[in-house]
Amino acid sequence: MTSQEINLHEQLKKYFGFSQFKGLQEEVIKSIVNGHNTFVVMPTGGGKSLCYQLPALIKEGTAIVVSPLIALMKNQVDAIRGISSEHGIAHVLNSSLNKTEVKQVKEDITNGITKLLYVAPESLTKEENVEFLRNVKISFMAIDEAHCISEWGHDFRPEYRNLRHIVKRIGDNIPIIGLTATATPKVQEDILKNLGISDARTFKASFNRPNLYYEIRPKTKNVDADIIRFVKQNQGKTGIIYCLSRKRVEELAQTLQVNGISAVPYHAGLDAKTRSRHQDMFLMEDVDVVVATIAFGMGIDKPDVRFVIHHDIPKSIESYYQETGRAGRDGGEGHCLAFYSYKDIEKLEKFMSGKPVAEQEIGQALLQEVVAFAETSISRRKFILHYFGEEFDEKTGEGSDMDDNVRNPKKQHEAMEEVEL
Ligand code: ADP
Ligand code: MG
Repeated sequence: MTSQEINLHEQLKKYFGFSQFKGLQEEVIKSIVNGHNTFVVMPTGGGKSLCYQLPALIKEGTAIVVSPLIALMKNQVDAIRGISSEHGIAHVLNSSLNKTEVKQVKEDITNGITKLLYVAPESLTKEENVEFLRNVKISFMAIDEAHCISEWGHDFRPEYRNLRHIVKRIGDNIPIIGLTATATPKVQEDILKNLGISDARTFKASFNRPNLYYEIRPKTKNVDADIIRFVKQNQGKTGIIYCLSRKRVEELAQTLQVNGISAVPYHAGLDAKTRSRHQDMFLMEDVDVVVATIAFGMGIDKPDVRFVIHHDIPKSIESYYQETGRAGRDGGEGHCLAFYSYKDIEKLEKFMSGKPVAEQEIGQALLQEVVAFAETSISRRKFILHYFGEEFDEKTGEGSDMDDNVRNPKKQHEAMEEVEL
């Protein structure tokens, strides 16, 4: 069956209850339904999951979905099971299953009940699983978070490197779908090369977020006071403040509290109960501000975050983009304020010094881009988009005046002096 013979809108409504596709979803889905190797680059929240879920439900056989995080897989499986009376429609195959459970999963696949099989790359490399999957009908293979395949991505997983080889063993003509929110040309090249899909139809959404205002200020001894002033000027709005270390998170959260701002800390050193309590308080708007390490944010979908502050500059433009991207999801105001001092760059360099040389070199290159971004006098938006291999659309000009450099132009050397404080 090709996409011409299927009413995709009807299927979208039937399975997901949505009446419209988002962005490039429909084109992507057609490409997958028609059996092409496909590559999808969309920002976080763009709706990548549906791009493979809908074709999986429509097509004959089982789609294998590779994903690096067990928690994310579980969420997706629960969501898919919620739209069907058939429990076996989606399964996770991983090492936590006992023998009976594995048997059930395999039975459901053999009987054609399972449309989506989520696996971690480690489980897929197991010989018994490869043997089994070779002998059943596979519709396609989706590699979610495909940037994990690249050392230039922010989350390199060596196991991802074997995927191409394994797909080949499972079946010669299985279409491969790669999906990622990392848009740098280098990472994309790596993905296509490593998955062996240089012929893939590529769908790339714009990374421009016109409603976000980007601002970088020099970081001085008074950074805490600067943050307090900013938060007070934005009273009643919710925001996230990112710090590099757990210690700094605790200290800053306390400083804010002492100054009458309702804030809670969030970092991986807190016990699970406290973490989820603080996260809920933020989501339910019992507090205005969460002060957090990067542990906070994965899968958090609060639409009306009005500001994201970086107390410390992130280690890459990708991280900066991801973290600031949590502001203004609803299309409303989103102020992204980062404090920058070259000393922090040196600190980040020091953190890397224990790592293998190759990793250090990549880390250095990513950091130099951060320095260039922080010290630039051109439009921050243009810088970010250029970094992601995208040309700013001058015709629509969306968001063209939404950063400090455009609003208050200054000469490059002035900008440099200011940060040398
Ligand atoms: P990504 O993986 O690109 O970060 P997700 O697949 O997690 O994004 O989707 C983000 C959100 O968008 C989810 O809450 C999802 O239900 C929603 N979504 C996806 N497609 C549509 C659509 N066509 N209409 C409305 N909401 C959608
Ligand atoms: Mg996703």
